[in-house]
Amino acid sequence: MEVHGKSSQDSHPEVGQVLITRQQISRRVEVLAAEIAEYYRGMELTVVAVLTGSLVFLADLIRRLPLKMRINAISASSYPGKSTDSQMLELSLPAEFDLAGRNVLLLDDILDSGQTIAAVMNELAGHGPASLRSCVLLRKLRPDISGRIKPDYVGFDVPHKFVVGYGLDYDNFYRNLPDICVLRESSRSAERGSP
Ligand code: 5GP
Ligand code: MG
Repeated sequence: MEVHGKSSQDSHPEVGQVLITRQQISRRVEVLAAEIAEYYRGMELTVVAVLTGSLVFLADLIRRLPLKMRINAISASSYPGKSTDSQMLELSLPAEFDLAGRNVLLLDDILDSGQTIAAVMNELAGHGPASLRSCVLLRKLRPDISGRIKPDYVGFDVPHKFVVGYGLDYDNFYRNLPDICVLRESSRSAERGSP
C-alpha cells in the first residue's frame, strides 16, 4: 500500500508484509464508531485509553464519535524494550482519576493473552463506574488461550504474529506506520538468540 510513493515497509528492514491497510483500518474504525455511538447515544462517555499503543486508534475513533466525552489516558507496560513475550504488567494511572458513576469505555491496541485488559478492567471496575465496556483494535487468534476476556468491540482478528504500525511498536519504533504490518521473523529470532 502506497502513499506518496512510500509503503509502510520502505526503509524499515525489520518490517514485513502489510497485514491491514490504512484504508481497511479507516473503514473498520468508521463501523466501530457507529456501533459505539449507537450504544452510548444520549449518554456522557469516559474513554480510558491504554497508552501508548492505542494513541492512533484513539485519535481516529474519538473524532468519529458525536458524543459528549471525557478522555483519560493510563499506561500499562507489558513489553518493555525489545521483548515480544509477556512480561510483568505495570499500571500507572493519573493522580486525578474519577470514574465513579461514569460510563467508561476502555480502549486498547491489541489483545494477546488478555492479561493486560483483564488487569485494567479489574482496576477500572474498582473505581465504581456506572458501566464498563472494552474495545480493542486487534485481537490475536490464539487457540492456546481459552476463556479469556471478551471485549465488547473488536476491530480485527489477526494471526498470532507480532505486529507493528498504527500505534503499535517494536522497541518503541514503527508506531507512525499508517498500515498494520508484521514484524519480520528474522528480527525476532535474532533478538531471541541474544542474551
Ligand atoms: P496481553 O496482556 O493481552 O498479552 O498483551 C497485550 C499488550 O501487549 C498490548 O497492549 C500490547 O502493548 C502488547 N502486544 C501484544 N501483542 C503485540 C503485538 O503483536 N505487537 C505489539 N506491538 N504489541 C503487542
Ligand atoms: Mg499495550
